Amino acid sequence: MLSTAILKEIMEVAGEENVITSQAGLYTYGFDASIHHHSPDVVVRGRNTAQISALVKLANQRNIPIVARGSGTALSGQAIPIHGGIILDLSGMTAVREVRVEDLYCVVEPGVIYSRLNNQLARKGFFFPPSPGSADVCTIGGMVACNASGMRAIKYGATRDYVLAMEVVLPDGKVMHVGTNTIKNSSGYQLEKLMVGSEGTLGIITEITLRLLPLPEKRAIAVASFDDIEQAGQGISNVIASGLLPSGLEIMDSVCIRAVNRSMQMGLPECDAIILAEVDGPEEIVRRDIEKVADICRESGARDVDFTTDEKEMLKLWKGRKGVLPSLSRYGRDSVSVSLADDMSVPISKLPLAIKQFQEIAEKHGIVIGTYGHAGDGNLHTKVLINPLEEGAWGRAEAAVDGIYRAVLALGGTVSGEHGIGISKAPWMQIERRDSLEVMEAIKRAVDPQNIMNPGKIMQWKGSIIQYLRYP
Ligand SMILES: Cc1cc2nc3c(=O)[nH]c(=O)nc-3n(C[C@H](O)[C@H](O)[C@H](O)COP(=O)(O)OP(=O)(O)OC[C@H]3O[C@@H](n4cnc5c(N)ncnc54)[C@H](O)[C@@H]3O)c2cc1C
Repeated sequence: MLSTAILKEIMEVAGEENVITSQAGLYTYGFDASIHHHSPDVVVRGRNTAQISALVKLANQRNIPIVARGSGTALSGQAIPIHGGIILDLSGMTAVREVRVEDLYCVVEPGVIYSRLNNQLARKGFFFPPSPGSADVCTIGGMVACNASGMRAIKYGATRDYVLAMEVVLPDGKVMHVGTNTIKNSSGYQLEKLMVGSEGTLGIITEITLRLLPLPEKRAIAVASFDDIEQAGQGISNVIASGLLPSGLEIMDSVCIRAVNRSMQMGLPECDAIILAEVDGPEEIVRRDIEKVADICRESGARDVDFTTDEKEMLKLWKGRKGVLPSLSRYGRDSVSVSLADDMSVPISKLPLAIKQFQEIAEKHGIVIGTYGHAGDGNLHTKVLINPLEEGAWGRAEAAVDGIYRAVLALGGTVSGEHGIGISKAPWMQIERRDSLEVMEAIKRAVDPQNIMNPGKIMQWKGSIIQYLRYP
C-alpha cells in the first residue's frame, strides 16, 4: 500500500488527471492475458517522456515497483504487478511521429497499435512485418518489450530484426537514446537490441524507430488436410527442405480445427491436422510456389489440398487461424484454455516428434492439449484445456507443462519462441539459460540497482508458476 503522501507526490509529477486509484480500476489493471493476477497500488497514464522520466525518478527515490503496460495482452504474466506499486499505462501514447519510406524507417510512440501502424504504412506500399495473432490490439511498445513475432517470422523474422533505435527512460529517470535511424549500425554495444525482449525489466521505452519493408505484390494460401498429424509435421519439414521460403506455414490439430469450426463457423476440413501455407512475392512466382507447396503436401500424404489467391478468402482463413486461441476457451462446457506451455520452439525437423510427445504427455496427465502454431519456424502453441475450479486440475496441468518443456529442451528447443517469459515460463527458462543467468542478473543489477522495474520476473521468479492465479 502506498501512503497518501506518496500518492500525492505521484499526482504532482504525473498530473492528477492521469492517475487512477479506484478499487475497480486497480483490480482491472491487475490482469493481462495470462493465468495470473495482482492489483497495482496505483495506475498512471503515461503522456510524454518528461512526465515518465519524473515519475520513474520518484519511483526510484521511493523504491516503488513500476510495471510498464501496453494493451495487457501478454500471455505469461509479464504485465502483472506482482509486488504492487505503479502500473504505467502507455496505451495513450499513440503518435506515429515520422514515416520515411525513402529511408526505410518510421518513428512511433510505444502505444501505437500494430494493425493501425500497418494500415497507415500500407497506404505508402510498405509494412512492419512481424504479424502477431494479437495484431489488432497489441502495442508496438509491448511487441518490442516481448520481441513479438507471428505468422510471417519464417520469412520476415521477429520484432528484434526491425528495431533500429529507441528512446528509453532508465530506472533512475535518465533518458537514453540508443541505436540510429540507419539500416546498418556497427557502433558499440547494441543496447537497443538488449532492450528488445527485456519485458519492462530494464527501462520504459518511450519512442521506437522501426525498419520498414515494401509490401509484397501478391499472396496465395494453400490449405492441406491430413489424417495423421505426424504426416502434417513431416509435410512442413518437406516444404522447408525443398528450398521454398513461404511467408507463413501454420499447423492446426483436430482440437483446434473443431474449436474454430464450432465458435466461428469456419467450415475447415475436420481431420487430424491442417497446414496453412502462404507464399508472397511477384504474381508469377507466387503461382509457381503455391503449386509447388501443394504438390509437396500431396506427396507428404495430404488427403486434400486447395489453394486460393482471393483476398477475401485469404483474410477469412487467417481470421480462423488467429481465432484459435479465443475459440479454444469455448471448446468444452467446463474447460477453458489456460495459457501454459504456450509457445515453445523446436528445430523444424523435430516438429513431428514434438507433437507426438505432447499428445502422449496430455494423455498421461488426463488433460486436453490443443496444438497449433507457426510450425514453419518450429514454433508451436499448445493450449492446456482444464476446468480451473476442479480439484487437482492445476496440479495435473503443471505436471503436464513440466513434461512438455523438458521434452522441448531435450529436442534442442526453447521454452519461448515469441510470447516471452514473465512468470509462467520462468522456471524452465532458468533451466534452458542456466549458463547465462548470472550475466542476465548482473545486467539487471547494473541498470536497475534498486530493482524497481517489473521486479520478480524472468530470472528473478522463484518457485511454482501456480501462484498469483486469476482464478479463485
Ligand atoms: C489472442 C492473442 C494472440 C497472441 N498472438 C501472439 C503472436 O502471434 N505472437 C506473439 O509474439 N505474441 C502474441 N500474443 C502475446 C502478446 O500479444 C504480445 O506479447 C504483445 O507484444 C504484447 O503487447 P501488449 O501491448 O499487449 O503488451 P503488454 O501485455 O501490455 O506488456 C507486455 C510486456 O511488455 C512490457 N512493456 C509494454 N510496453 C512497454 C514499454 N513501452 N516499455 C517497456 N516495457 C513495456 C510490459 O511491462 C510487459 O512486461 C498474443 C496474445 C493474445 C491475447
